[in-house]
Amino acid sequence: MTLSATPVPILTDNYAWLLRDSNTGATAIVDPADAAPVIEAIEKAGGRLDAILLTHHHADHTAGTDEVRSRFNCPVIGAAADRHRLPKLDDAVKDGDEVRLGDAVGRVIETPGHTRGQINFFFPDGDILLSGDTLFSLGCGRLLEGTAEEMFDSLRKLAALPGDTQVCCGHEYTESNARFALSVDPDNKALHAFVAKVEQLRAAGQPSVPSVLAEELQVNPFLRAPDAASFAAVRAKKDKF
Ligand code: ZN
Ligand code: FE
Repeated sequence: MTLSATPVPILTDNYAWLLRDSNTGATAIVDPADAAPVIEAIEKAGGRLDAILLTHHHADHTAGTDEVRSRFNCPVIGAAADRHRLPKLDDAVKDGDEVRLGDAVGRVIETPGHTRGQINFFFPDGDILLSGDTLFSLGCGRLLEGTAEEMFDSLRKLAALPGDTQVCCGHEYTESNARFALSVDPDNKALHAFVAKVEQLRAAGQPSVPSVLAEELQVNPFLRAPDAASFAAVRAKKDKF
């Protein structure tokens, strides 16, 4: 395990993620929507940046990209499907493509639902999933451009990854997601224990993420939905919660 992922809190409740391969020192940043704190985090980690990875086109994930790129002069990698509305891409990727960072090799997983071109990056070395606005801890992204069926299938793809996978998502939404999760799944003991841990972390000023996929499968009401129709019902309920 040479790859590590560290959250960089930006904007109101977003996370950019700093990836570092300890074998080679290769470093990448995921979703650098605010250049100043991201550049500071990169400088602190050694001042090297090998790549910028983008999960989707929303401004709260992309806005700082050009400034960070010009500072470190590194390639930007994002979804081919959305290249017309992403910052200029040097590497336009699609489902199954490889992304290299030093000795670590990641895989692109397309998950339409929140946006049509949303992608995730999964690095088996370090069991790291960059899930953007598809999978949150205790939640999932809103269906802004896709159907419930698409999002259900997308979440199924992520749920099939190894249980040890660290879910590195794009937002610190866990506490508010917890209120909803408890309302629809009040008798879930694992959920209560999970929420207690989250509250402790947040009270101590710590990020609640990454979470571990095997735990999310037990507590996340969107991953627990057995079929697309039940998923659609839970998603609709959350939209009005
Ligand atoms: Zn988004
Ligand atoms: Fe977002």
